[in-house]
Amino acid sequence: MRIGIDLGGTSIKGGIVDEDGNIILEKSLKTVKGKDENGDRICNGIIKIIRELIEEKNISINQVNLIGIGVPGNVDYKNGIVGRCVNLHWENVHLGNILEKEFGVKVLIDNDANVAAGAEYLFGSTKKANSTLLVTLGTGVGGGAVLNGKIYRGINGAAMEIGHTIVGENFYNCSCGNNGCLETFTSATAIIKYAIKLIEEGRKTIITDIVNGNLNDIDAKIVFNAARKDDVVALEVLDRFVKYLAIGINNAISILDVDSIVIGGGVSAGCDLFMDKLINEINRIKLFKDIPFCTIRKANLGNSAGIIGAAMLDRI
Ligand SMILES: [Zn+2]
Repeated sequence: MRIGIDLGGTSIKGGIVDEDGNIILEKSLKTVKGKDENGDRICNGIIKIIRELIEEKNISINQVNLIGIGVPGNVDYKNGIVGRCVNLHWENVHLGNILEKEFGVKVLIDNDANVAAGAEYLFGSTKKANSTLLVTLGTGVGGGAVLNGKIYRGINGAAMEIGHTIVGENFYNCSCGNNGCLETFTSATAIIKYAIKLIEEGRKTIITDIVNGNLNDIDAKIVFNAARKDDVVALEVLDRFVKYLAIGINNAISILDVDSIVIGGGVSAGCDLFMDKLINEINRIKLFKDIPFCTIRKANLGNSAGIIGAAMLDRI
């Protein structure tokens, strides 16, 4: 048996996972926002969840082969150290050591998009593909590649940060300090910000009515639903999103030439709305017009990918 932990900005989710990638018990814990530089508060939360899982399943920690953790930040995979993790306010937390001392079980840690890409490769939408790229569109934008059956991590664990590839000039800066990152055009945050920008410029849209004028209540789902109703402003937001997502993915194709790309994260719920447009736009801008590029589709493990992939880190 294995334990997978999905560490998010607002919650810790943990699960016991069997060898076939099924989550057989799952628990979650809300995390408190605020400074946690040495990681004590969140580490204690992870320890609590692991203890609860083994207690509730009535198993011994000796029956657990691996504890795997997906973290929203830069990870030194070999040494189990979380480098910079803006959402958690972490710098160089030796999470692997802390948990191995606590439980006496092997612990592996990786970036959350890598972990999700691994889960999709082992059990989900990119199963049996030779080389795959997962692009996660959520609050931010992440990427994970599995090449020849192994997660490609780079030498600093910083590979496939597709969200921070620069694809244009934007009206606001990225959280990383640069301007024009893919994340600022294609994340849920980006969709919301651009919709609000158009509304504040005086554009009329049903989005304003849906949120009763409270622009802070706008989310990506509301914008996409307005686009489904042919709202002109929502369609403009959608087209801009597609334009830049196509640039980002086309760049990745030019560099990696993978045989399968999947889109995950909360924004992928709108795949039915934007997938055809996205594929048309990539076809328009791609380099080798006569070569068909890889398949692009929606990832299919959803929120479970984080727990499953973490639990399987020794296999990818
Ligand atoms: Zn950035």
